[in-house]
Amino acid sequence: MAFSIFMIKEPTLFSNDSAETKIEFLRREINRHNELYYQKSQPEISDAEFDALLEQLKTLETENPDLIAPDSPTQRVGGRAEGFKSFVHLVPLMSLDNSYDIDELKAFDERCQRLADGRAFDYVAELKIDGLSLALHYENGFLIAGATRGDGFTGDDVFGNVKTIRTIPLKLKNDYTGRVEVRGEAFLSRSQFERINEELKEKEEKTFANPRNAASGTLRQLDSSIVAARRLDLFPYDVLSGSSKMFVTHWESFEFLEKAGFHVNSNRRLCRNIEAVIEFCNAMQERRESFDYDIDGVVVKINSTRLQEEFGATNKAPRWAIAYKYPALQATTRLNDIQVQVGRTGALTPVAYLEPVLLAGTTVARASLHNEDEIKRLNVKLGDWVLIEKSGEIIPQVLQVIESRRDGCERDYEFPKNCPVCETKVARPAGEAVTRCPNPDCPAKVKARILHFASRKAMDIEGLGEILVEKLVDLNLVKNVGDIYSLTTEQVAELERMAEKSATNLMTQIEVSKDRTLHRLIYGLDIRHVGERYAKILARHFRSIENLQKATVEELDQIHEIGLAVAMSVFNWMNNPRHQDLIRRLKSAGVKTEIGGESQANTNENFNGKTFVLTGKMENFTRDEAAKLIEERGGRVSSSVSKKTDYVIAGSDAGSKLEKANLLNVTVVDEARFAEMVS
Ligand SMILES: [Zn+2]
Repeated sequence: MAFSIFMIKEPTLFSNDSAETKIEFLRREINRHNELYYQKSQPEISDAEFDALLEQLKTLETENPDLIAPDSPTQRVGGRAEGFKSFVHLVPLMSLDNSYDIDELKAFDERCQRLADGRAFDYVAELKIDGLSLALHYENGFLIAGATRGDGFTGDDVFGNVKTIRTIPLKLKNDYTGRVEVRGEAFLSRSQFERINEELKEKEEKTFANPRNAASGTLRQLDSSIVAARRLDLFPYDVLSGSSKMFVTHWESFEFLEKAGFHVNSNRRLCRNIEAVIEFCNAMQERRESFDYDIDGVVVKINSTRLQEEFGATNKAPRWAIAYKYPALQATTRLNDIQVQVGRTGALTPVAYLEPVLLAGTTVARASLHNEDEIKRLNVKLGDWVLIEKSGEIIPQVLQVIESRRDGCERDYEFPKNCPVCETKVARPAGEAVTRCPNPDCPAKVKARILHFASRKAMDIEGLGEILVEKLVDLNLVKNVGDIYSLTTEQVAELERMAEKSATNLMTQIEVSKDRTLHRLIYGLDIRHVGERYAKILARHFRSIENLQKATVEELDQIHEIGLAVAMSVFNWMNNPRHQDLIRRLKSAGVKTEIGGESQANTNENFNGKTFVLTGKMENFTRDEAAKLIEERGGRVSSSVSKKTDYVIAGSDAGSKLEKANLLNVTVVDEARFAEMVS
């Protein structure tokens, strides 16, 4: 089986194997990649390749239904549920008492000391993940049920959705056969949260306010395939056998959970005394923003389960545990004003202007109100006291109005009927949440479009920032992105406070941007629905703007991953005479509109049209830098080695990708040679 890893792409290589062998092999591979992705954070293959493996397994299982097993990875995604049944918990999921400062933690310790009556004991401190509690039931090692916490006694049966969470083992790996209940916190990582919101934004659907809301909204989805695509995660925090604890100490539960195949959070500490607990709380609070998931405190538990049982619970909460809560990322303040901003697409976004308030170490003076409906839903008036919340790097949100603090001086707010920038009558199509300024020449749109064109992920024109664009548009020097390339050094230098040197620098940056890769140009053109990902797909498929201009809706729609809405949008954009004129101007200014071609200074025959795979650590380049260098020279970076790979760039500690390259006779290049090729 040693070579099997490399046969996935070429199923014919093991066509002699029985279906059973193939299925077993695929299951093992899928589980292994799952582990690499979640437990080790070192994926060897892309999400798309992972899905392809799963697809292969699904096909084989459909052909051999008697070989389907309940723990097969294909069993994670079911169909659409009608609704959720309720689920009565075997042992109630009690909430914990909260403590908000160190004194309260010390008071908790004193109570425990009294109850222990001279016996020594340890604490376990673990992160309090800001997600949703789930109860998972296993019988004979197999996952048989999953439910939300609900009110602690009865929750929702969300088994179908729970199965899609790839870090929840469908079968316990340590072959434990008794009845087990595992409790844990389901959550969405910040990076997945951002990805989901990005995709929702592209589809012009409502985005989630924070990762917790997104996780809870996701678990309540009736279609489990949507849940699977969202990539929820779970950190377990407890394990029960029947109605009692499984181990003599709580600490041992984590070891069991790790061996069983769960994604166990490693930020936990066994503490001799409350001072060690306090130290852990403070240390984690400092690192709070560095985690890829939201936490709202630390949970402190007595380690001995015997003492836990002895201490028991009040009718509200156990006496042997407490949650130490970090200062909330929420605050109340007064809303002074609402101003509407006009975005790139002409969308009107209301922004709340607040009485500045300190929140998690930063002063917050503005918060998002999303759209007109959100203002109505909140029933917010000017002068209201509001509750705001901040989560991660996201702009703060207005959560609710504190109506009890109204004194009658509040004024109603009316959403504008005309664009606040160009005064054109705004439009809101039926069924849409977004109000837009329809004027294509609205200065707000023009400015935002130019900023987008110049942004880092698009044409990356350093120096063309907000203030400068504001001036250029206001002075009528730039009316669309095509005008950027007709600017002269004199024009730029004449702008207020623009030094000669920075004017020259800007002109150089503009000149350099003409050679950017095709997908950056497509992304920069700001075609509705076309984000970075679609821009890459379109660039790869059509290889030039000219080809893209000739594409029919049918051709576009036929591309895997591109849906009809995107196809229509691209087609309409390309066939708009204004845009055709713009493309002509960009081309005559010398902007590169195709992949490859001799005219580009940067393309390099070592790279042009070739596929590269990066593996291992390089001394002088990060992965992103290396990928950028390759792409700038016309090459493509892939995440896995196949026969189509031209080069594998191997740094130190290169693993299976290197082995695979050798097996497939792919040229392997070390860092020094790569540096030569680049220069
Ligand atoms: Zn306008």
